Amino acid sequence: MNENDYLKQVAAQAGLQHYSNQGPWGRKSGSAIGERDGYVTVIGTMRDRQGMKVAILLRFKKMEQPESVKTALKSAGIKKGKLGAVGSDFVRWEWKYSFAKPKPEEVAKMTEDLRAAIKQATMGFDGRCEQCTSTSAPSLTLMNGVPTHICPGCQEKVRQDLNLAAVNYDAITPNYPNGLVLGVIAAAVGGLAWGLVAYAINYIFLYGAILIGYLVAAGVLKGTGKVTRFGQIIIPILTVASVLFGDAIFYTLFIMKQEHVAFSGKLLNAVVVHLWEIEREGNGVMSLLFALVGAGYAIYSARKPKFQAVFQPLGSPNA
Ligand SMILES: [Zn+2]
Repeated sequence: MNENDYLKQVAAQAGLQHYSNQGPWGRKSGSAIGERDGYVTVIGTMRDRQGMKVAILLRFKKMEQPESVKTALKSAGIKKGKLGAVGSDFVRWEWKYSFAKPKPEEVAKMTEDLRAAIKQATMGFDGRCEQCTSTSAPSLTLMNGVPTHICPGCQEKVRQDLNLAAVNYDAITPNYPNGLVLGVIAAAVGGLAWGLVAYAINYIFLYGAILIGYLVAAGVLKGTGKVTRFGQIIIPILTVASVLFGDAIFYTLFIMKQEHVAFSGKLLNAVVVHLWEIEREGNGVMSLLFALVGAGYAIYSARKPKFQAVFQPLGSPNA
């Protein structure tokens, strides 16, 4: 059964409506969307690093203590799937599958169970705007794909606020020297940690390169104050340098232990000079590869924030 037909069946079973191309997960097959007892309900499929999942999103009136939603779900003891995320006005439940999708009636049943569980801790919507809580907004509008009760006035306000945020962001003067200094510090600390950890566990921990990428990106961004071309160029360079530095520390420590020699600048220098030959013998190419993956991740996570809200009515033909 293709995803479209599947979600149609899920929608029918769960008392929702299927909309292709719409919903929070940006998939062609769209999602089943509707409101039951004041709870905005969205069911769709999503893919992440762990594989394919059926996702169930329930939205409720904004609250102060989303922890109580977790507690309510825990005590409901729902067997299938697991909690994906919980926020001040939503909970997302995820049901991982590998080949066969969960049966539509089971998904519908689980949605009922989830709703019943969170009713203990939350309040449903009452047809008023979620933002100003005064204007009537009975129909759902997609805000960046998420069905929301939002009145036209508040939509305009959200747009204006985001425009202002974008203008303010553009107005930040990047501090390049600071970015460079913090980036170099992050690379040095990351490289040192990488070398020491590798030495301690006697293994070059490749995922460490990804962590270093994140660390360097965080340092550069904190320093410059915003995402810039400069940052996008020096983040991968510093990440790779950091990993190589870490490798040099690892090999220096390794030689010190094997050959029973004390640390000296001469030794470190010799390792650095011959690093490429040493790397070729070991898994240096792999560490470089991982460093680049780390840098890639870092740049991806450090892309310019999106200041945009797209509002779309449910079932709009140009979706
Ligand atoms: Zn409003």
